[in-house]
Amino acid sequence: MPPNALYKTAYQYNKEPIDTKDMERLQEIARDCCKVRNYVYERYGGIGGLPKIYPGYTVQNEMTRSGLRERLGLPSVYFYLSIFDALGDIKSQWTRTKKRIEKNIQANEALTRKDRHYLRFVMKQSRCFEAVVAGEEAELSGEWAKTYQSLCEAVDTHRLNQYLRRQVRRHLVKPYTAAADGFSSSPKAYRYADHGIYLSMKESRKRLFVPLTDNNRYARQIYIRLYPKEGSLTINVPIEVRQKHPLGYQGEIGLAMGMRCMFVTNRGAAYGEQYLEYQSALTDYVRERLPGHRRNAKNNPGMKKYNAGKARLEAALHAYINAEINRMLETEKPGVLYYPKLPAAAKAGKNKKINATVHMWQRGYIKSRLAQKCQERSIQLVEVFGKGISTECSYCGAMGSKDGDTFRCASCGRELLERQNTARNILKRGAEKKV
Ligand SMILES: [Zn+2]
Repeated sequence: MPPNALYKTAYQYNKEPIDTKDMERLQEIARDCCKVRNYVYERYGGIGGLPKIYPGYTVQNEMTRSGLRERLGLPSVYFYLSIFDALGDIKSQWTRTKKRIEKNIQANEALTRKDRHYLRFVMKQSRCFEAVVAGEEAELSGEWAKTYQSLCEAVDTHRLNQYLRRQVRRHLVKPYTAAADGFSSSPKAYRYADHGIYLSMKESRKRLFVPLTDNNRYARQIYIRLYPKEGSLTINVPIEVRQKHPLGYQGEIGLAMGMRCMFVTNRGAAYGEQYLEYQSALTDYVRERLPGHRRNAKNNPGMKKYNAGKARLEAALHAYINAEINRMLETEKPGVLYYPKLPAAAKAGKNKKINATVHMWQRGYIKSRLAQKCQERSIQLVEVFGKGISTECSYCGAMGSKDGDTFRCASCGRELLERQNTARNILKRGAEKKV
């Protein structure tokens, strides 16, 4: 599971009622899968199962040898998926149990700081935990063994191990399911075709065709949920979705970036409108005050004064840039932010050289600060190629014309702020590219 994703469920529905006979065949699979799961819960869901469930090959092998699959006559794909489902439930049950115990350790006033330290170590080290729970001696190696040894010496391990075992016995619940309402399936056991899905049945080589209301096709583990009374089923498909933003930021915005105004969003909100004032103060200062004699700059008092003045103006400009980026992000709260790929710096002529240098550098500064601040807030920043982005109408795609700050489209008659039109195009292209 990618770090930035979680799963939600998509549903597919049968188009026509499933006849009783076919439903009975499906229910039989569901009942068998339920039996397999309960068999796994019973054998491995308790304390004794703990050493076998991670990573689970032992369980798989033992289940293969058990002969249960042959007795049920269940296709192996359903058999093993049921085992994995059950193992997943058992593992979750252990996770819950451990969390519960950790809480109790924290709350137990009879335990000393060293007791807690020891118990926490045992809980974290799975081999240690398994050994203690099984009433055996833990065998650790290297640095872990040394740490463990020193922790053991400081406490009454016999008493604490007993406490831990008692806690496990009290809180571990062996899973059980009576729900035979469906079964898991994987691409090995189904095939989408002919506006429906073919499902493997218990009779070998026979597949049941179920017409569906949509033509979506998935290639992952799905769950077939049965509704026998209604003669219907749903196919439950886990779908990856972008995780909810930790700060609640959501939605997507497009940003136009410029000199006169740092950012204009697709909705027309402007940030950094005084940018040019700060920028010009610096640029003018550099142009007007740069001392003619640049040689021997270190000992030139004029140069020192000049550098100090320039640094002061730069600091003011940077403070302004940072404040405006913060204001923009905290006002807009975007989950995804699209911004234009800025054209490479044009080679400036001789007399424009200083001006252009300062100009280009600040743009780079804005970009790098924006990237940093987006990263800090987990906002996805996406660069969008910007050709024609300011000349195209963001509503109809026709070429429009600029009249000062206004963008006019002769084709659809729309008129809006030129930068907003650009930002709308950026959002549009960004969203399209992503799809
Ligand atoms: Zn238009």
